[in-house]
Amino acid sequence: MMDENGILFVLSGPSGVGKGTVRKKLFERADDLAYSISMTTRERRAGEQDGVDYFYKTHEQFEKLIADNELLEHARFVNNYYGTPRKYVEDTLAAGKDIFLEIEVQGAMQVKENFPKGVFIFLFPPSLEELKDRIMSRATESPDAVLKRLKEARSEIEMMDAYDYVVVNDDVERAVTKIQSIIQSEHCRRERI
Ligand code: 5GP
Repeated sequence: MMDENGILFVLSGPSGVGKGTVRKKLFERADDLAYSISMTTRERRAGEQDGVDYFYKTHEQFEKLIADNELLEHARFVNNYYGTPRKYVEDTLAAGKDIFLEIEVQGAMQVKENFPKGVFIFLFPPSLEELKDRIMSRATESPDAVLKRLKEARSEIEMMDAYDYVVVNDDVERAVTKIQSIIQSEHCRRERI
């Protein structure tokens, strides 16, 4: 039996844990899941594409989206705004399709208030030392931004208990398989005649 509405899945985790890699791998394997492309005011990194990785906005444009209530949630992270377009999420769920958000914890907690039935997954690093090394080696960022990301990572980890599932990213393939299992289990939980 099919669910009437899709299920909303949220993946969070500290900067540098490998959320992006896990998410991309998940979408290579899963074709019955929609990805919510976020809006951001952050600079586009090399290799990123507008409308694929993010919708890149100016601060002004972003503040208008907030004022017009077009975002399901939004947060400031390391001097930039990030937010989830409301309409795409609502339309996808109403069409009976699952949606997947990859967002930081403040935003995830806002989503939890509006979607208490959402499924919240926290991606955890194999070790804190490894996480630090990965954040430090992100050469695209200024030393100041790297320090801020490290600080954010610590406070994000403190929020882990608010999530339904914790997945340790010791191996990308294994982490993706675990997330796929979570998705399957959540469908089974909702199966009703
Ligand atoms: P990055 O700059 O590395 O792409 O993303 C920085 C952080 O912002 C990551 O933790 C990422 O998951 C988060 N993020 C990406 N999109 C959104 C969004 O729409 N809303 C919120 N709250 N966080 C987001």
